[in-house]
Amino acid sequence: MEKKKETDVLIIGGGIIGLSIVRELSKYQVDVTAVEREADISMGISKTGGSLIYMGLFQALSLVVKDLGMGLDLEKETRTERMQMLWSGFSAFDKIAHELDIAHKHVGLLLIARNELEIEKLRRLEHLAKFVPGGTVRRVHKKELLEIEPNVTSDAIEGLYDSTGVISIFGPEYVIAVYENARENLANIMLETECIGIEEEKGFQTVLTNKGSIKARFVVNCAGKYADKVADMGNARSGWNLVFYRSQALVFDKKLDGLINNIVGIPPDAGKIDFFYPLGEGNIHVYAGYYDPSEDKEFMETTQENYDDAFVRMKSLVPRISEDNIITAYVGMRTFNDKEFEENIIEYSPRSCNFINVLVRMPGFTPAPAIAQKVVGMLGDSGLELKENENFNPKRKGIPRFRFLLDEERKEIIAKDSRYGRVICRCETVTEGEIVEAIRRGATTVQGVMFRSRAGMGRCQRNWCGPKIIEILSRELGRKQVTYKGSGFEYFPR
Ligand SMILES: Cc1cc2nc3c(=O)[nH]c(=O)nc-3n(C[C@H](O)[C@H](O)[C@H](O)COP(=O)(O)OP(=O)(O)OC[C@H]3O[C@@H](n4cnc5c(N)ncnc54)[C@H](O)[C@@H]3O)c2cc1C
Repeated sequence: MEKKKETDVLIIGGGIIGLSIVRELSKYQVDVTAVEREADISMGISKTGGSLIYMGLFQALSLVVKDLGMGLDLEKETRTERMQMLWSGFSAFDKIAHELDIAHKHVGLLLIARNELEIEKLRRLEHLAKFVPGGTVRRVHKKELLEIEPNVTSDAIEGLYDSTGVISIFGPEYVIAVYENARENLANIMLETECIGIEEEKGFQTVLTNKGSIKARFVVNCAGKYADKVADMGNARSGWNLVFYRSQALVFDKKLDGLINNIVGIPPDAGKIDFFYPLGEGNIHVYAGYYDPSEDKEFMETTQENYDDAFVRMKSLVPRISEDNIITAYVGMRTFNDKEFEENIIEYSPRSCNFINVLVRMPGFTPAPAIAQKVVGMLGDSGLELKENENFNPKRKGIPRFRFLLDEERKEIIAKDSRYGRVICRCETVTEGEIVEAIRRGATTVQGVMFRSRAGMGRCQRNWCGPKIIEILSRELGRKQVTYKGSGFEYFPR
């Protein structure tokens, strides 16, 4: 028989936004449940986005890019509620990163100009950045520019440098940390559970899922690219549609660690970015080229054209890169709404204050803590009792990273568990102990192991360690077959 569950608040979507709201709610004596349709959390937009928590010059740059030719008053955009939330999220991030043990690194941003036109664009950005908090922006001339970044093109004639406005993270690690902490605080998060319908009852909503129905007083729609569908199920759309733009990313081998020290780019145009950024783990990441409008939100394949274009653009900026250095490429789908293009939609359904839509245009990782607080406030205004949970534990500890341990620490951990003495992923130096711990914490797929431990994310892209990861997953889960990410390829251990 179908089991009917009841909850105070049901969150639909296990990305950074939904789970940040779950964690915020777990600070109160509230019964909160989240449903995520995929086999793991962070499988939507949050998988391919969110490597930077940013304000300052990068936020000014972001305003220019995401104007997308709309001709917005960008100075005015620095005074919106959205910008306040971005600033609040940015300011809170260091504390959150320490509470949740998230690897993060403060990095500078250097934008370079190679001709008069680019200098003019830099001047405009410099002016706009004055209205955005968080940055420490100054002009740098060629000599200093090449001292800061010796490997950028010698065509550079001037730069704009912000030393304080960006924190580099690995987005899925942030989502996983929030998830683990919310679960530790007794939030109920159901995977492979898809919301397929919503029915209104007296003072309640019944959310129908493939795993049975859930009766909820409040529903919060955080379904990312599918928020339109979920809003329609709840009869809760106020005249907006989602619009999508593809963006090409390339990831370079850690062999290039040190090639650049800061995020490096050229001044952007509306709908176009070209920049490199160093990740905490030593890889260099690139977003390059145009925001390609896409009617099809499922079109996530890298095309040869996008790949070549991205590479050529980046080579003109840092000539020492070569195609051999690229270890993987992927597409991110940037999602906006067409009603208030420059804004997030965080609103009650026109039908009821018990249903809230939360559609976050990018950046979404940066403001997530502030958005979570706002939504919890809205739930309180709608009648949810918010009594403090005195047992709330803000802390979560990450999996020990063998590669970062000192010799003494390595000996100690191996003495406790010999599996930490067996390296499975050679490229990233990840041990069996870390993989087993990732599985214990909830990884059930190859990608789940990768995002929790980094096994398989290095140069060989699982060619060497893939079969071993599958074997360990299969053994630990007691399954005859495992999948790459819940759907798609199935693997059978040798
Ligand atoms: C290329 C790119 C780069 C970006 N860079 C940055 C950056 O540097 N900094 C930054 O702050 N932001 C960045 N962003 C933006 C940021 O990634 C997004 O704003 C954020 O990830 C959105 O999170 P979300 O939780 O709203 O959506 P998602 O992560 O998509 O989560 C929604 C979840 O809902 C689930 N779902 C959908 N339908 C259902 C259903 N019916 N039932 C159950 N579950 C369902 C999905 O499977 C998904 O997991 C970037 C985005 C892109 C695309």
